[in-house]
Amino acid sequence: MVAIVTGASRGIGKACALRLAKDGYTVVINYASNEAKAQEVLAEVRALGSDGMIYKADVSKKAEANQMVKDVAKAYGSIDVLVNNAGIVRDELLLTLTEENLDKCFDLNVKGYFYMAQACALKMFRKKKGVIINMSSVSGSFSLPGQSVYGATKGAINTMTKTLAKELAPYGIRVNACAPGFIETEMLEAIPQEKKEEYLRVIPQHKLGTTADIAAVVSFLASDESKYMTGQILTIDGGLSL
Ligand code: NAP
Repeated sequence: MVAIVTGASRGIGKACALRLAKDGYTVVINYASNEAKAQEVLAEVRALGSDGMIYKADVSKKAEANQMVKDVAKAYGSIDVLVNNAGIVRDELLLTLTEENLDKCFDLNVKGYFYMAQACALKMFRKKKGVIINMSSVSGSFSLPGQSVYGATKGAINTMTKTLAKELAPYGIRVNACAPGFIETEMLEAIPQEKKEEYLRVIPQHKLGTTADIAAVVSFLASDESKYMTGQILTIDGGLSL
């Protein structure tokens, strides 16, 4: 069984790659620039008794996403699980929002997910089986000032998840999403400390989530334990969005 995890050199993607390796998958660790970190993840995958490869590709570019899927299918024969995880955040208020950041967010967080889903679904059709898991965010349905663009990309992913679930169900392909709240990764480093403390006060569990919390849900969604689930967005946020 083969799983591709986009943006797996660190953060949530890394935890998903390691968890899927532990579950017995051969794991493709996609990254954008940090080869050394991706190599470290591959070494950890191997230490868990599994195998895989690292693959540098900017998944916001259709040609690179397609080439990666083609090469992976050639190397391993099939693709069973896609974790569409690579994403960026650009927090900006409407009046200072730049077109560059608007494009960057949509290119990766929306178009990149479509490119990867399309390329992988084409391979999954043959087996009449496959799983696509999209990394959304609570920001897709819960509004935070400064996140109009990021939230819009994640809202788009929620809608895409439900629609693709309906389109692909006849071909045995399930599509679900995870919607994390605040998870301890490098992505959160951009948030000022006082803002983080404010969030901790409003999260009912009064703590940040860990990457392993998200990876556990991804493991469940990838497995046959969730075989009657499709088109669902599972929120993992310590109660933030309640
Ligand atoms: P992160 O720590 O910033 O890691 C981002 C990963 O994406 C890295 O592996 C990076 O590779 C890769 N990447 C960036 N641009 C890419 C591109 N164009 N093509 C391929 N890979 C690319 O992020 P994270 O916090 O783990 O977040 C992962 C996902 O969870 C994102 O979709 C994010 O929106 C979502 N999420 C995160 C949180 C949170 O609190 N952290 C909350 C909700 C949702 P390099 O190392 O090579 O740059």
